[in-house]
Amino acid sequence: MRRSSWRWTLKDDRERLKTPRPHSVWPGLRPQGRGLRTGLTVCGVVAVLSLGMTGTAAPRDAARTPPRAPRPAPELVRIRFWTAPDHTRLVFDLSGPPPVEPQFRLAGPTSYEISIPKMRKSIAVTSEFVGDSLVADIFPSVSDSGVLVRVGLKQATTPLAFVLAAADGIPDRIVIDVPAPPNPQADLKLEQQLTEIKKSKRLVVAIDPGHGGDDTGALGYRRLPEADVVLAIAKKLRWELEQISGVSAFLTRAGDYFIPLRKRIELARKYQADIMISIHCNASRNRDATGTEVYFLSLTGATDEASRSFAEAENAADLIGGVPRETGDDLLGILFDLKQNDTVRRSSELAENLVDALRDEDRLSTRGVKQAGFVVLKAPEIPSVLVETAFISNPREAAMLKDAQFQSKVAERLADGVQAYMKNHARSASN
Ligand SMILES: [Zn+2]
Repeated sequence: MRRSSWRWTLKDDRERLKTPRPHSVWPGLRPQGRGLRTGLTVCGVVAVLSLGMTGTAAPRDAARTPPRAPRPAPELVRIRFWTAPDHTRLVFDLSGPPPVEPQFRLAGPTSYEISIPKMRKSIAVTSEFVGDSLVADIFPSVSDSGVLVRVGLKQATTPLAFVLAAADGIPDRIVIDVPAPPNPQADLKLEQQLTEIKKSKRLVVAIDPGHGGDDTGALGYRRLPEADVVLAIAKKLRWELEQISGVSAFLTRAGDYFIPLRKRIELARKYQADIMISIHCNASRNRDATGTEVYFLSLTGATDEASRSFAEAENAADLIGGVPRETGDDLLGILFDLKQNDTVRRSSELAENLVDALRDEDRLSTRGVKQAGFVVLKAPEIPSVLVETAFISNPREAAMLKDAQFQSKVAERLADGVQAYMKNHARSASN
């Protein structure tokens, strides 16, 4: 329970990232927020100008204006949840920061309580039936001090809760991760499966669909969420790869839930992956931007300014999805030795193979192989690439990305690229 509550601001992390995330707008919130701020500024300027034009000084008794009514307490406005294989995430969206630190406690072996003093509850917020293997239901209620939310757990476990401050269009939130208890039987089964795969000298591919859960990724043309598109392509790619003799494929994410970037690398390691392919969609404020590009890790800096900006956007996933600070920067500061340089060389080959294969898809223009500091590419021993399939912000490419046939074509091309990589390595191994 020591880590049951803490707080930090997303702003700090964003300043570390230097430039703002150009995509992944929180659904429906950022545009209104910005509009409101702009509107106030404009109104302020108009007020000053009109005083100047009439030459009227502010009335002396302005101080007697009755004081403004105190601001109403912030509200719990929405409860959302996602089921992942190893945890269930509950997110409480708030209209403002909690005036008093929320209290988190186990009220019984299968009852978890969140008390948020001086908070109101929107009438739209009602009890939720979750019904997965970890959480039964969520009961929000109004208490004497504020809002009390009781979470019915399916089994005895200690949830991890944290408060995230609003920033850049994302509302204040309380996040509760309910972890699944360790499952030694499942771990043993996976170990046996991996031993079998390794015996048959298979190439193991970790396919990593970006984003998921409370991180929708870029919201593209007509608000098409990147997270959904890349999951569909990743599943199709897994199917394609499983058809190739000697190849086995795993997904880091098989449903709509959030996984921190470093956890994705951990999963690739757990599957003893030989290569990792992270699937994303590109986004730009310039709606005319189109094309596909494949990235591998840069040890020295991004190929160009746009690549740096795309990497920062993708790296912000942990800020959008929200991870406790302790799980932070261990891999960011990693030192690369000679072996890791070899990994980067192989990553570059894989990127070339994938781009060459994607050239065969007539509807895509290729922007080539590029380098940038994507966090998800930092597994020191696994050659890793990140495919920005197409621009979800471009109307024509968004329509393509949504189309199941196009998704299958992209998956086929990527599988061709993996086969080319395999052949090259079989050749270099036999020489
Ligand atoms: Zn992305």
